[in-house]
Amino acid sequence: SIRPLVAGNWKMNGLKADLAIATEVARGYDAALKAAVDLAICPPATLLFPASAALIGSRIATGGQDCSVQPSGAFTGEVSAAMLADAGAAFCIVGHSERRTLHGEGNATVRAKAEAARKALLVPIICVGETREEREAGKALAVVRKQLKGSVPEGLDAASLVIAYEPVWAIGTGLTPTADDVAEMHASIRWDLARIVGKAAAAGVRLLYGGSVKPSNAAELMNVANVDGALVGGASLKAEEFLAIARAC
Ligand code: 13P
Repeated sequence: SIRPLVAGNWKMNGLKADLAIATEVARGYDAALKAAVDLAICPPATLLFPASAALIGSRIATGGQDCSVQPSGAFTGEVSAAMLADAGAAFCIVGHSERRTLHGEGNATVRAKAEAARKALLVPIICVGETREEREAGKALAVVRKQLKGSVPEGLDAASLVIAYEPVWAIGTGLTPTADDVAEMHASIRWDLARIVGKAAAAGVRLLYGGSVKPSNAAELMNVANVDGALVGGASLKAEEFLAIARAC
């Protein structure tokens, strides 16, 4: 079976003092948890290097929240995948809905970012998910299928790719889909992925659920078929909540 991954997306939160959250998570990542679940923390880019340093020996990975499609050069303000890797990252979130919506990133850009991440030997966590209007119109599965087709590079193996299903309407709202809706979507994602990366790879890719994951709903969401972990926003800023979510896997 697939070893779950719980990744914390700190978004644009965190100053140096907040590295204490990462060290507290490391202290709570005990032998039982280590046996059961992988953890990753994706702090803002400014904290990636010190967070990675603070987590050496903890077996907790770090990740970036975005990367440039370009390898280097005159792209003021951008951060390359190689820079994230150099700062200690193992993962990079790409295509988060906040990037897709607020920064106009389309599927082609997200795919290029995933490819840039792979070139730097980072594992891309590619985010997909429908809006409320799309779900109400009965289009959720079709929307996510199109996002997967457009943003997942071909030829990746199971260890080189993570998919996060994050319904836009569930992010930061306290709302979550029903377990049945998550099961339907995750089964559909695994089916669609087989067309892109092949059946064998698709069978092993970790499919995370994200959107208002909290200690109180984590067990129900993490026990859904084809859910192999969580991408956690707000609750990842509290070590005890993040660890409680990990324990639910
Ligand atoms: P919340 O857990 O705060 O809803 O955020 C989810 C998310 O966007 C993680 O990437």
